[in-house]
Amino acid sequence: MATEIPMVTAEERDWATAAARARDISSWDRTTDVLVGGYGGAGVCAAIEVAEAGVDVLAVERRESGGGTTITSGGQLYIGGGTSLQKELGYEDSPEEMLKYLLAFCGPAADEEKCRYYCERSPAHYDWMVEHGVPFRSAFFPPSEGTIPEGDEGLMYTGSELGYPYREIAKPAPRGHTAKRPGMNAGLVLMTSLLEAGEKAGVKVAYKSVLERVVMDEEGRVVGAIATVDGVEQSIRARRGVLLTTGGFIHDRGMVERFAPRILGCFPPLGENTEDGSGIRIGMGAGGAVIRMDESSIVMPFAPPRDLLRGIFFNRLGQRFIAEDLYQCELGDAVVMHQDGVAYLLLDSEIGPENSMGAQVCAKGSLEEIEQALGVPATGLAHTVEQYNRFAAEGEDPLFHKHPNWIRPLDKPPYKVLDISLDKCAFPTFTLGGLWTKSTGEVMDIEGNVIPGLYAAGRTSSGFPAAGYNSGMAVADCTFFGRVAGQTAAAVAPAD
Ligand SMILES: Cc1cc2nc3c(=O)[nH]c(=O)nc-3n(C[C@H](O)[C@H](O)[C@H](O)COP(=O)(O)OP(=O)(O)OC[C@H]3O[C@@H](n4cnc5c(N)ncnc54)[C@H](O)[C@@H]3O)c2cc1C
Repeated sequence: MATEIPMVTAEERDWATAAARARDISSWDRTTDVLVGGYGGAGVCAAIEVAEAGVDVLAVERRESGGGTTITSGGQLYIGGGTSLQKELGYEDSPEEMLKYLLAFCGPAADEEKCRYYCERSPAHYDWMVEHGVPFRSAFFPPSEGTIPEGDEGLMYTGSELGYPYREIAKPAPRGHTAKRPGMNAGLVLMTSLLEAGEKAGVKVAYKSVLERVVMDEEGRVVGAIATVDGVEQSIRARRGVLLTTGGFIHDRGMVERFAPRILGCFPPLGENTEDGSGIRIGMGAGGAVIRMDESSIVMPFAPPRDLLRGIFFNRLGQRFIAEDLYQCELGDAVVMHQDGVAYLLLDSEIGPENSMGAQVCAKGSLEEIEQALGVPATGLAHTVEQYNRFAAEGEDPLFHKHPNWIRPLDKPPYKVLDISLDKCAFPTFTLGGLWTKSTGEVMDIEGNVIPGLYAAGRTSSGFPAAGYNSGMAVADCTFFGRVAGQTAAAVAPAD
């Protein structure tokens, strides 16, 4: 097998899984039109689109069954712009308002083309889900109770739409759509429905089959792949191309060290252990560029109970650093990326300390005693609390604009402090960086040229939540851009 690597950056060359050369293959073991590598959230949606276009599709899936991380997930989908469920429940939304929010949230420098493409087609993506058997219950879960219902309500807020500054940038609307789930998790309901739809559409799947590398011809086109099927290496010709949907790289410690070192301390990795970057490395081996590799979703699941939002975060200097009511991944990012992983939550005697992230009380008493116990400079915390309480009495937070619903003076000592630092609590994390793709799913090289015959979607690519993540954006991005990549590949003229 040849080991030539097309033009890539030096960094990528170290990590790429070199493509094989078509001229070294005397006869193919198998032929299909579109080969999908990985049959999880993005893979099944891609394959359904290809099959429904009447084009032959084969998915190779390394496990004994499909579903990937998506089947284990919360199954929340960030869909909006005026879906039929939003309308039914009386919530106004439009692609324009949704776009304003995404551009503000998925930054810095959000991928405007991808965000716009998604917002315009988002209501139709909801309809597609329903048409493909995913059930949603027409009921709203109020934000005062959180972002993850214990029941099976279909619509909820799953981000920072009501938080500052987002509520002033875009008209807030609930966009978390979650499958109806009697006694099951929503990811299971979602993926069971989609896997059934794939079967109905005629998708062929080879399980226990690992995609190893792509095969390229002399013109630099991806014309097939090498896969290990039931332990035997096979060459599979793909007349319209290969679509990579193997998930992200949170489980490859070496890749995390190289590309996203700032999340090395985050634990546990959020995702199945198949998210080891194999598809990203295979794409790099075909000359695909990678972008936003250091972006991630760092979850800090400190509330429920929502009452904890009435407390205030402070850092090692005793200063607040963010509004406590923002989405949990924005909080996680703030603690890990901007506070060196050290943060505390101050509560008075009327709040907590029960919490859902396993944080322990690390100090209690007066503010002075807490400063001494934590090594906070004298009066640092007292000054913060004095200033917070002065404005909280009027229901205001001039520094960070926490929503008035969560503001009241912290004036009922004794106080207690939860240690919410990185080394004390769970900060589940998954990666958001990956292959550089157009909205069509075509993979690009470092100069922005499309690599013919190569497509990617889901966490293998850098999607619309390229930086800045709300719950539901990963599965929405995987399923939507998986579908688009499938449509693109199916429409290509087949190689002879
Ligand atoms: C507990 C949990 C809850 C979550 N909740 C949500 C949520 O509610 N909403 C949300 O948006 N996101 C959520 N996420 C994140 C989200 O689920 C994932 O980012 C997303 O589902 C990944 O989808 P994917 O299609 O890229 O990968 P996957 O669904 O993991 O699919 C990849 C598939 O490729 C296969 N594969 C891997 N390598 C190879 C190879 N070399 N050859 C062949 N097959 C291969 C894998 O076995 C797998 O089946 C959650 C994650 C977790 C872990």
